[in-house]
Amino acid sequence: MNNIHHWIEGKVVESTSGRTGPVFNPATGEQSGVVDLASVAEVDAAVAAAKAAFPAWRGASLSKRSEVLFRLRELIDANRKEIASLITAEHGKVLSDAMGEVARGLENIEFACGVPHLIKGGFSEQASTGVDVYSIRQPLGVVAGITPFNFPAMVPMWMFGNALACGNTFVLKPSEKDPSPSLFLAELLAQAGLPTGCFNVVQGDKTAVDRILEHPDIAAVSFVGSTPIARYIYETGTSNDKRVQALGGAKNHMLVLADADLDMAADASIGAAYGSAGERCMAISVVLASESIADELVAKIAERIPGVKVGPGTEPDSEMGPLITGEHRDKVAGYIDGAPGEGATVVVDGRPEDNDGGFYINPTLIDNVKPGMACYDNEIFGPVLSVVRVHGYEDGVAMINANQFANGTAIFTRDGGAARQFQYDIQVGMVGINVPIPVPVSYYSFGGWKASLFGDTHMYGPEGINFYTRGKVVTSRWPDPAKSTIDLGFPETR
Ligand code: NAD
Repeated sequence: MNNIHHWIEGKVVESTSGRTGPVFNPATGEQSGVVDLASVAEVDAAVAAAKAAFPAWRGASLSKRSEVLFRLRELIDANRKEIASLITAEHGKVLSDAMGEVARGLENIEFACGVPHLIKGGFSEQASTGVDVYSIRQPLGVVAGITPFNFPAMVPMWMFGNALACGNTFVLKPSEKDPSPSLFLAELLAQAGLPTGCFNVVQGDKTAVDRILEHPDIAAVSFVGSTPIARYIYETGTSNDKRVQALGGAKNHMLVLADADLDMAADASIGAAYGSAGERCMAISVVLASESIADELVAKIAERIPGVKVGPGTEPDSEMGPLITGEHRDKVAGYIDGAPGEGATVVVDGRPEDNDGGFYINPTLIDNVKPGMACYDNEIFGPVLSVVRVHGYEDGVAMINANQFANGTAIFTRDGGAARQFQYDIQVGMVGINVPIPVPVSYYSFGGWKASLFGDTHMYGPEGINFYTRGKVVTSRWPDPAKSTIDLGFPETR
């Protein structure tokens, strides 16, 4: 049994809380590890280490910080397979997908290497006679990240690269379901030369999260997870005077217009719905099919499903792995159970006949879904694709805009004008045009609208740099002492 502990002040620290949680191998259903669940005192120790490390790290030159990040970049690159294996072992996603996760996380570290350029301020010479005005951005202090199970390496990298580059120190609370990749990243950060205490990992559950939210020495919290918890994190964190960005759940729609290439749309929906067993916040979970092509599109998706190879993530042939826990598998199965009773048609039923040996659900396709049905109204977070039939563009856009979630969306069409209009009309944070999973590259920022994001700032990219710094404007004059006079008027810029 693998025992997974904290990382505080540059070393592995075993918990004395007396509380632990199970970690599973989702491919077999067996418990593979035991993770510490932090006490309040252990969170306090991690925050104290980060606080003590802050003055020196803040004082480290931009080139020194950048140098550490460049070294980290090399170390992550050299350890891609090792990190991916840790992800697959605890999350269950297939190795090729885990390698993709590492690659997308690494892009964020590469972005952070450019901090000397990213953090530059502005300068206005002679704003008033003999007066210069300039802006600078300074770190916040100790910042925390609370991350979900579905990207145990990438989402932490969305956060800590930029946070550290800006001169903050960091406390990470990863998901207790797959905690090992974070510990491995902590070791790589140490090898890269990050000073002791700048990066800490506390394993834990609500006890640790609540302590983070109320700790007076934590200045900001970045969160990624489900909507109810995101709302709670935002409300609690901000009421404790912290800066908070809290990314929540999703229900991502793909609108397929009648003129789309239906084979391309079917291929795209298979990858976007069933990749990572649908456990992606950018997964497509609803296809909005224009009536005139709906039968053909459903048939094309259904005929592709048997070709998806489901199996353990460690098998090179597997394209889709199991779900994270048995409990989650049963929840996903519950949506499939309930669909016919609500009037939907289960075209392909992925529920396995027996539940022994792994938390699997095979790709599932449900047609004739409508708003108001449980499988439409809720985020399923599994390999279940719903098809809603719509009259056309206007109907599809109205349905997407009426949804409480607004993380990602996509349109498939050959009509450039319709695509341009979609980008203009749609009330969603990340939009794909013939691209089913439009996760922004690291030099843009990631975030949804409405119930998919609480807070004003999207994550990583330029908005990440803004989030982890605060602005200061300096107005400066070096007058000739001989010309000094008293003036009680309000300063004017002439
Ligand atoms: P989750 O909300 O259950 O957990 C996220 C984090 O919050 C974990 O670290 C967990 O320990 C902690 N947590 C859980 N319950 C808590 C509570 N009651 N009080 C305090 N802390 C608590 O989410 P998850 O199941 O790990 O991840 C899946 C969810 O994350 C999905 O809803 C998915 O859409 C969402 N997600 C969103 C994005 C995005 O960018 N918008 C990205 C990835 C995942």
